[in-house]
Amino acid sequence: MNATQTLTTTQLTTCPSCGDTAEIVRRDVLESTDGPIEHVYVRCVGRHWFMLSIDALERHRALVAH
Ligand SMILES: [Zn+2]
Repeated sequence: MNATQTLTTTQLTTCPSCGDTAEIVRRDVLESTDGPIEHVYVRCVGRHWFMLSIDALERHRALVAH
């Protein structure tokens, strides 16, 4: 077990839908045909809910970074 993976602070990202501030409320590891994939649950200030893979989240952040 790796205790450092425990979320102790709120992590913020950007809503994939409206681009507003969003909060990562939960992380989960889901099994897939390619092996376990880490997913995050995101809730934005406009009350949108998303579940997306870490991979998709990173891609999205790369897109909105500039
Ligand atoms: Zn939103």
